[in-house]
Amino acid sequence: GAAPPVTGRRVAGRSRRAAPARPDDDRIAALLERMTVEEKLGQLQQLSWAFATGPGNPDNKKVEEAARAGRLGSVLNMFGAKDSNRLQRIAVEKSRLGIPLLFGLDVIHGCLTTFPIPLAQAASFDPAVTERDGAVSAKEARSNGVHWTFSPMMDVTREPRWGRIAESCGEDPYLTAEFAAAKVRGYQGEDLAAADRVAACAKHFAAYGGAEGGRDYNTVDVSESRLRNLYLPPFQAALDAGAATVMAAFNTVGGVPAHGHSHLLTEILKEEWEFDGVVVSDWNGVRELIAHGFAADAADAARLSLNAGLDLEMVSTTLADHGEQLLQEGRIPQERLDDAVTRVLRLKSDLGLFDQPYVSESQAVEAPSRQARAAAREAAARSMVLLKNDQGTLPLDRAAAGIAVVGPFADSADLLGTWTFPGAQKKFRSGKVLDAVRAAARGAEVTYARGVDPAGKDTSGIDEAVAAAEAAEVTIVVVGEAPAISGEAAVRSDLGLPGAQEKLITAIAETGRPFVVVLVNGRPLTIGDWLDRAPAVLEAWHPGIEAGHAIADVLFGTVAPGGKLPASFPRSVGQIPVHYNHESSGRPYAADNKYTSKYLDLPPGPQFPFGHGLSYTTFAVGEPRLSTTRIDAGALRGGDTVEVAVDVRNTGKRAGDEVVQLYVHDLAASITQPVRRLRGFRRVTLRPGKSRTVRFRLGAGDLGFWTNDPKGELRIEPGPIDVYAGNSSTTKAKATLTIG
Ligand code: BGC
Repeated sequence: GAAPPVTGRRVAGRSRRAAPARPDDDRIAALLERMTVEEKLGQLQQLSWAFATGPGNPDNKKVEEAARAGRLGSVLNMFGAKDSNRLQRIAVEKSRLGIPLLFGLDVIHGCLTTFPIPLAQAASFDPAVTERDGAVSAKEARSNGVHWTFSPMMDVTREPRWGRIAESCGEDPYLTAEFAAAKVRGYQGEDLAAADRVAACAKHFAAYGGAEGGRDYNTVDVSESRLRNLYLPPFQAALDAGAATVMAAFNTVGGVPAHGHSHLLTEILKEEWEFDGVVVSDWNGVRELIAHGFAADAADAARLSLNAGLDLEMVSTTLADHGEQLLQEGRIPQERLDDAVTRVLRLKSDLGLFDQPYVSESQAVEAPSRQARAAAREAAARSMVLLKNDQGTLPLDRAAAGIAVVGPFADSADLLGTWTFPGAQKKFRSGKVLDAVRAAARGAEVTYARGVDPAGKDTSGIDEAVAAAEAAEVTIVVVGEAPAISGEAAVRSDLGLPGAQEKLITAIAETGRPFVVVLVNGRPLTIGDWLDRAPAVLEAWHPGIEAGHAIADVLFGTVAPGGKLPASFPRSVGQIPVHYNHESSGRPYAADNKYTSKYLDLPPGPQFPFGHGLSYTTFAVGEPRLSTTRIDAGALRGGDTVEVAVDVRNTGKRAGDEVVQLYVHDLAASITQPVRRLRGFRRVTLRPGKSRTVRFRLGAGDLGFWTNDPKGELRIEPGPIDVYAGNSSTTKAKATLTIG
């Protein structure tokens, strides 16, 4: 990693922490003076616009009334230059103070141009991919009146059952942090007021990915040390990159719902990290304090959340309804209320809304541009992970005598993935694999058979698929998960391919003809017995708008696959959680000793580990070379770093990409350390025979860790640290660094 300061944060760019006074601060203070309590509470209210129905809808009428009365600060789910301007005009021209509305939308992996799902982007191990998505999305969104996206999600998770793993960067805090920061840069750029930028939202604060059993919204109970070492680093990185807002998480943390968690929202976020942006609730999250059994009623929910540090209430109206009374009774402090309002107004000011509340209707982006599509295609291809490739089955020969394309997703235009909103984004469906293969396979006859449905049990179509495979030189089997079974509240207890898809693969294998399996899915799957019978498996995830072309690009070798798994693929659901960065037990796995940490009925470790991914060529990654084998803890604290050099060489016959990965393991520490922690990665492209030396820097933030101290001091303790380099988390090549 880059050399971080002693606090363990990434190097601050335009950090949101302890930000200097803004030019508009006086204007905001003056405005605050003029505001009634009702108007202040209004600024802390966000309501949802039912965009499918338009202004005639009675709920939308209420939104308009609230805007006119100055009782509304923000609106979510508004999209479109004309419609947003119309509503904005009501707030700006008809309300007493004319404060502009803030429009937010879940632009998660694309706005009109859908990029691959975030988990896929993480698999690229190339933060530039996600930064591009952010920039393209920001332009499309802002031009349609959206000021603010509820993204990036940076919930580290070890739970492939959890549907929202699709929206995450997987199981590693360092990878997630790098991607979170890149996405924030992509969305926000240098100036939030620019016509092609939106404010980012770091979510969900915090530990949402730790839900027990992977069931969405479920309990999380973590120690302070795990919170700080696993769940919080991506938030620190996003804030250091300038993320303007943070969203609270639906879950409890140690029995306290995040929406009412003052240690999280105030002590850590606003005091320790000096975050001066807006903390927004999740959808109805404040009212849900009642269902959590934490608040007695709506007034109590409003009090608990505001006092804990929440600023803006999404959808529920507890504060708007009860704030005035709470204030009179002294149950919420005036300063807290004013602070929350100031944060919202400052965000509006940073977005330039006081000067330019409207967007240009003639410049609204209405469809994906050619460049945006090209970026999405490249992003999708770079996100794919070659899990297996026996005997050079891939890449395919364009001039093959015949290609069969089979499977329920081969002819599907529904490969956008989770979180694509209806109306606008969903209009631009994904390109189909079948069409793209037809276009790419010059000369070859391409046949198609669906075989089975995505989830149904009917196997009657398998014969046709088998016949197609028998008549072809090679068969492409496109199987996976429908987008609707990953994402929010889409939790599965079985991670195999749904329905009869495994039967289809087995039947194709029975033909004895060569075939490749292309997986389109939103989470790690348990790959059953069919794995041994499939010569090649390409993990394509939900690739987005350019799904077809991107998959064809990789299958035919126009693009060399170079992605790596950002989350382990378990052997079975019973093995979950299984992740590379686990702590060692006192009895680490040993094959010949019964009394060690393992399952009787499974080999150790996952099916495919974090960081795994093959190429069409081969690479040799050398031992890590350290600039020094000893460094003083004080020097580290003062900002010194150790350089680690790693050689990588393309030893095969084709050009390709490799991701050099750097891990550390602190052998003895006051808090048991993960057996490996990713601390650096670099994706490089090399022609055959070529080599490159990749250099990393390890500093205090990379070698230190947090304990259970609630004040959050980063610890750097003396002793040896193993430094590993390789092209997967299972690498054995290491050197030892001693902290003196
Ligand atoms: C999700 C958030 C999202 C919000 C607004 C919630 O259900 O948890 O991630 O931003 O809805 O749509």
